[in-house]
Amino acid sequence: MIKTIGVLTSGGDAPGMNAAIRAVVRAGCELGMKVYAIKRGYNGLMEDDMYEMNLRSVSDIINRGGTILYSARSSRFKTEEGMQDAINTCKKRGIEGLVVIGGDGSFRGARDLSLRGIPCVAIPGTIDNDIGCCDYTIGYDTSMNTIMQMVDRIRDTAESHDRCAVVEVMGRGAGYLALTSGIACGATSTLIPEVPFDFERDVIDRMKRTQKSGKVHFVIIVSEAIGGVEEMAKRIQAETGVETRATILGHVQRGGSPTAKDRIVASQMGYHAVQLLKDGIGNRVVAMQKEKILDIDIFEALNMKNEIDLNMYKMSLDISI
Ligand code: ADP
Repeated sequence: MIKTIGVLTSGGDAPGMNAAIRAVVRAGCELGMKVYAIKRGYNGLMEDDMYEMNLRSVSDIINRGGTILYSARSSRFKTEEGMQDAINTCKKRGIEGLVVIGGDGSFRGARDLSLRGIPCVAIPGTIDNDIGCCDYTIGYDTSMNTIMQMVDRIRDTAESHDRCAVVEVMGRGAGYLALTSGIACGATSTLIPEVPFDFERDVIDRMKRTQKSGKVHFVIIVSEAIGGVEEMAKRIQAETGVETRATILGHVQRGGSPTAKDRIVASQMGYHAVQLLKDGIGNRVVAMQKEKILDIDIFEALNMKNEIDLNMYKMSLDISI
């Protein structure tokens, strides 16, 4: 059985990462493992910046957003030299397995380390829900709920003033967060990168149609992959006569206390990762598929495409008119 493991968070942070760290540390300690907390993602691994955890090191973090291990992006880790430093640290510390919590970029790093003899298990932690093999990524539910609460507030004031609110939401290159937020917020129109759109037809004409049926305030959700909300707001105001304001929600979407769903899934995934590592099994991604926690080869996982549910998109259009 493996005796020493490390855990790190890498790439963009996401609410629920702490719950995953807690599960990894507690599960590892319960199995009698030494568990290292590696700081600032792969940077901490290259620079040997880490400390040993115990059962109490992760007390009172399940409810906290962000990541107590801090996160980072590191271009040096992608070089052979950086990779070698990381491996040397593992050898020096006796680390025989790693849990990497992050997005698909971090998964690539985990794959490269696994190939070089350090078994890594990756856990999907990103608000974007943009990882092919996973129905769900840690942080997505919290972020979606934050967006919903923020847009509800924006809607209140849009309603008071008969305005249109154009709101940009995160998701990096993927529209899932925008699509489901659009549904939850009852947006008149939702623009996502996966579905080609015609601004005149899909925004202006839809607004005019709903105006005719008596609607006087509007919410339009735009994925950050499309952007340009200020310009859109000007165009909407010019073409429809409705006073329009643009809002970019920004990093408020990444913070905050994780929802129950994120805490539960993160706990399940962290626990599952340690059960794999204890037997020396690496190069795996822990994923949720059809509400079940399972694991997949990282190579395979990275080749899987994340596809938007077009029926869901059509439904969102049909009921928001
Ligand atoms: P995320 O994990 O959220 O997708 P990034 O794409 O920024 O975020 O990746 C996080 C880190 O993972 C990078 O800073 C880098 O250290 C490592 N990484 C990303 N891509 C690769 C790659 N192709 N090979 C090795 N390491 C990578």
